[in-house]
Amino acid sequence: MTSSATSRTNLLGLPRPELETFVAELGSKPFRARQVMNWIYKRGEGSVVNMTDLAKDFRAQLTERAEIRTPEIVTVQRSADGTSKWMLRADSSQAFEMVFIPEKERGTLCISSQVGCVLDCSFCSTAQQGFNRNLTTAEIVGQVWLAKKELGFEAGGDRIVTNVVLMGMGEPLANFRNVVPAVRILMDDFGFDLSRRRVTLSTSGLVPQIYKLATETNVALAVSLHAPDDELRSELVPINRKHPIAELLEACWHYIDEQNGRSVTFEYVMLEGVNDSPAQARALGSLLKGHPAKVNLIPFNPFPGTRYKRSPLPVIQKFRDELIRRGVLATIRRTRGDDIDAACGQLAGRVIDRTTVRLGNKVFGLAQQ
Ligand code: SAH
Repeated sequence: MTSSATSRTNLLGLPRPELETFVAELGSKPFRARQVMNWIYKRGEGSVVNMTDLAKDFRAQLTERAEIRTPEIVTVQRSADGTSKWMLRADSSQAFEMVFIPEKERGTLCISSQVGCVLDCSFCSTAQQGFNRNLTTAEIVGQVWLAKKELGFEAGGDRIVTNVVLMGMGEPLANFRNVVPAVRILMDDFGFDLSRRRVTLSTSGLVPQIYKLATETNVALAVSLHAPDDELRSELVPINRKHPIAELLEACWHYIDEQNGRSVTFEYVMLEGVNDSPAQARALGSLLKGHPAKVNLIPFNPFPGTRYKRSPLPVIQKFRDELIRRGVLATIRRTRGDDIDAACGQLAGRVIDRTTVRLGNKVFGLAQQ
């Protein structure tokens, strides 16, 4: 593995058909692509030279033309609750973040799709840094590969990363061109082999792209709704002015029909006195009742300079109960990693020339490559 920018093709950016073409261009049979993928995604091999069952000539050609290059780790932070956050370097001036959340039955990796974000949602800290650039397919896939490298590639047969959510920095559907191939690699049997229910793409509601997504993949869909009416939603999620709630919900039901999916998860951040009243719960219930929908209530995670407050837990529970009474499935997301700013909406790839990360009084390790 090398971290220097070269003109060699990064294999992490190639879904199987593209890798087959690449291999064919080097004069090898397409099945070699599957062999290579097996090395990369199942065994976690980061160096072509070590792929010992490939013919020597082919290996030599691959070494010359291709590489397996992940983003570089700038810092790693570990939360008291076991959550880990990595700050990664995309190139000399950009940083973005990924978070791993271990639970009893599963391990969820939250990855970024862009450096920064254009959407400007009023309650999200990523919005404050503005937009930098799209991540490439290789940089998106590279996060999962790197996390598995750090955590263990199926050590002892157990999967450590069981779920991947595109809920880190950025709007995945605004980077459609790079995100869709990445999702394909995550779900390919010869790639990370994650089932469609274990890869979730979260969007703020780019309606045309949801229709397009339905023709290209069957990844699980999550939508950041956050309000039951257009007036409030436009204030919280400005893209709503372009694609209002009714249009967005139509697109969601279409996605489920097309993909024969189970349901769309609607994320709803709980902001005290803003969107958390029983009347708003009832309005939300009416919107979603009878549709393939689940609601995930996210306690707001504060960040410096925000004007919002988290709704108290009893208010969140009442909101949930109101939804359930109206026949809409609803759960409350457990807040994880907030002591290291790794919780939803707290990801902001700050300046990267920092060499240490302070957690309380402790200085945590820097994994500079
Ligand atoms: N751009 C995508 C994915 C990134 S955010 C989207 O909008 O869906 C992942 C989730 O965290 C979204 O539902 C987002 O609205 C929510 N979120 C953002 N800021 C938050 C905050 N400060 N506290 C809690 N959740 C937040």
